[in-house]
Amino acid sequence: MAVKKKVKLKPKALKSVKIVGIIISVILICFVIYFINYYALIKLDYSKEAAKNIMMKFKKQDVVKIGKNKTLNKAFESPNYNDANFSIYAKIEYHNHKDLIKNINTLVKVGYSKDEINMILSHGSNEDVKEFAKKEKIKYLEEFYTISYAKLKYYDRYVNYMDKSREDEENSVLYVNLDLDKPNYQNYQEVTEFSYTMLVNKHHHLDEKFVPEHLVEIEDEYTTEGDVKLNNQAAYYAKKMINDAKKQGYNLVINSAYRSYSEQEEVVNTYKGLYGDSYVEKYVLQPGFSEHQTGLGIDFNSADTLSFSLSDEYDWLEDNCYKYGFIHRFPSKYEDITGINSEAWHYRYVGKKIAKYIYDNDITLEEYYVKFLDKD
Ligand SMILES: [Zn+2]
Repeated sequence: MAVKKKVKLKPKALKSVKIVGIIISVILICFVIYFINYYALIKLDYSKEAAKNIMMKFKKQDVVKIGKNKTLNKAFESPNYNDANFSIYAKIEYHNHKDLIKNINTLVKVGYSKDEINMILSHGSNEDVKEFAKKEKIKYLEEFYTISYAKLKYYDRYVNYMDKSREDEENSVLYVNLDLDKPNYQNYQEVTEFSYTMLVNKHHHLDEKFVPEHLVEIEDEYTTEGDVKLNNQAAYYAKKMINDAKKQGYNLVINSAYRSYSEQEEVVNTYKGLYGDSYVEKYVLQPGFSEHQTGLGIDFNSADTLSFSLSDEYDWLEDNCYKYGFIHRFPSKYEDITGINSEAWHYRYVGKKIAKYIYDNDITLEEYYVKFLDKD
């Protein structure tokens, strides 16, 4: 029978076991500390990938001091992270751009400050910023890009326009955003969707097939001749306005409203025959560029006088049309912006809220569009 022999370690071996034990404990403690720190970062909304990289780059303390920060998160996820720009990333507002970190690095290299970089990023898409970052440090940055609706991609056009026209920065941005630095009827934007605020002018075009929503015929009592159509909501408020004006002693009538593409073509040809090309160029809009195709534009007349601009009806409309959702569309002082010679008779339905804003602020539909609607 074998006798079990008790193993007794020699002192040297005992020492080795102790050392291994200490090493394992240290490793375990390190792991625990690592995971405590890692989860602290996850709690601050850093992604797993970002948290891992923050730990590896020994930036945990600095990041925790800053706290939750979407741009930093993106920086630590990015292969383009540059440690020298750490404090700049932290101060840059987050934008959902594919190359955000790469773009920030380039802009820093060109010499822009964090404020300037914030300004640049908030005025363009990823591609716009990428193009812009290729430029040398530019002039007029602050002058243009403190204007909320300035677009990064139009920077060169703003500068050219300002140099040529001697307009100030604000007007240069407004005019260029409206494509007024391009020739009329060329390189226009195609308008495809019907809305009460749709913009149609010499740079915003409607296709031949475009027909406004809900066209209705206006009763003859409101018009100078039959077969006048408008969008139903515009028609409802136009008739309400005419009725209310009548109660106060003003006789408004509708001369013309919806005109299809082909009807506008006929108008152009008729005037061409009567007065020639230069007259048409100056006073008649080409088909597709007339607001009458939207079903929201109305030419008024007064039942009592032929010269509408001299009538009491005109004064009444000027003061009251916004209450019914209409604006005076082509005032003489804004010919430069609308591109249309003053038309006292032409009114446009945009809805009450926006009509009031345009009336209160004394602006054009063009300016409203640039400031609030143009999201391109
Ligand atoms: Zn008109």
